Amino acid sequence: MSRDDRISVSKDGGVEPHITLCEVCGEGYGVTVGVMYAATYFDNGRERRVYVDRSRVREATREAERKGIEMSAFKHVPVDEKGVTLGICEACDGKQQADYDEAIAACMKGGVLFRCSECDARGFIPYKESTASFCDEVRKGNGVEFGKPSGVEFDSCAQHDGE
Ligand SMILES: [Zn+2]
Ligand SMILES: [Zn+2]
Repeated sequence: MSRDDRISVSKDGGVEPHITLCEVCGEGYGVTVGVMYAATYFDNGRERRVYVDRSRVREATREAERKGIEMSAFKHVPVDEKGVTLGICEACDGKQQADYDEAIAACMKGGVLFRCSECDARGFIPYKESTASFCDEVRKGNGVEFGKPSGVEFDSCAQHDGE
């Protein structure tokens, strides 16, 4: 395996710096030094763009095929397109950890996790009088005992709005 197999170098022989934008908040938080490619696909009607380093284009294409995602071909991201959405900044990473801890704590008190497939919202339903029977049902359906993490997926926002 030669060095060129591992390190992407642009046609002019240089790496192409791009600012990395956080996948969660969209803020710039770092710099890539690879040669970036982007492809688009639709997720529930919304266009999404994925960025990968050139060395991962083939792998990412195969992965999309395997998952049955209809994705455009990867195209080179010009260097003057400064930002590429890649990874997650430290602040959001910390917040996600805090959210995760909070959700697990809610599960230990009888709550359940949820994800909405319409808007991709994730959260938890706390265990209280109005939600207790729903939480119990979700746990029973998943075969999980009280106090252990369990979750439910909603098909539409109507199911998690209103609560
Ligand atoms: Zn962020
Ligand atoms: Zn929703």
